Amino acid sequence: MRILVCVKQVPDTAEVKIDPVTNNLVRAGVPSMINPADRTALTAALRLRAVCGGTVTVISMGPPQAAAELERCLRWGADEAYLLCDRKLGGADTLATGHALAGLIARLGYDLVLCGNEAVDGCTGQVGPGIGETLGIPAFSYVSELRSEDGASIDVTRSTGDTQDTYRVKLPALACLLWQETAELPEREDIPAVQMLDASFLDETQIGSKGSPTRVVKITVKQREYQYLQVDYHWPLEQRMDYIFRGGLSKKDVNLLRGTAEEQAQRVLVALERQEVQQR
Ligand code: FAD
Repeated sequence: MRILVCVKQVPDTAEVKIDPVTNNLVRAGVPSMINPADRTALTAALRLRAVCGGTVTVISMGPPQAAAELERCLRWGADEAYLLCDRKLGGADTLATGHALAGLIARLGYDLVLCGNEAVDGCTGQVGPGIGETLGIPAFSYVSELRSEDGASIDVTRSTGDTQDTYRVKLPALACLLWQETAELPEREDIPAVQMLDASFLDETQIGSKGSPTRVVKITVKQREYQYLQVDYHWPLEQRMDYIFRGGLSKKDVNLLRGTAEEQAQRVLVALERQEVQQR
């Protein structure tokens, strides 16, 4: 199975700053990391490769520094990595980002494309479905589990709040993985080089600012007097609990627990145990 994983480099900070003049994200001096859900997607890809055989390729669109994140994926076991890097890609909105990545994916060839469900900086969740639409393949969002036995089809489980549904789909297909805590991946030393590509093989009218119909009219940063946690209700329950325990409870009225009384009690216990282990 040829698996392609889309990996976005995101700022490793809770303090996102916006340039008041250009309305752009201030990236200078901000440490970066792999978008957490993309790491979940890579872990799922490595697991599928172990069962079905094949290769795992990681791809990204971004500045030269994004190669660092791809190298990390190679150390974790990806077979090859491609960085799409060109000034012509600058100013891309989610549509143009999807077009550029879909162009690269089509060029590389694929059976399964994996994305994170959402990037922690832009948070639109549009890029994965956009790639699926451009490639004309079935696309699934809010995916919590992937299984394949034969490498020709895949069982996709979607978790949407209180319900879970599982689909069997013939490949090629695309899945957007929800963030899940993953075990530490062993790292290897000897890795191939990240392959850099410019945008010369892409349709210039569909990429960068030329291919971006969206205009950012205004961005404002709210001044907050108290720490408040933004809880995304699409995250799995455990992730929400973890997030709140790490950051302290907010003043926001957060209704966290669902399920039967037993299920709720069980989840509280798991989260408290996890917190205790972390504090030791
Ligand atoms: P989501 O849709 O939430 O991401 C979902 C998943 O898609 C990710 O988990 C990942 O798997 C995949 N993915 C997303 N982006 C990438 C990527 N780049 N490489 C690989 N996989 C990816 N951003 C800039 O950095 N520079 C700009 O100049 C710029 N100009 C913009 C102009 C406009 C008008 C707009 C609307 C946005 C602009 N952006 C710019 C933001 C940029 O469009 C988004 O960062 C990008 O499209 C991803 O959107 P998202 O963060 O919401 O990702």
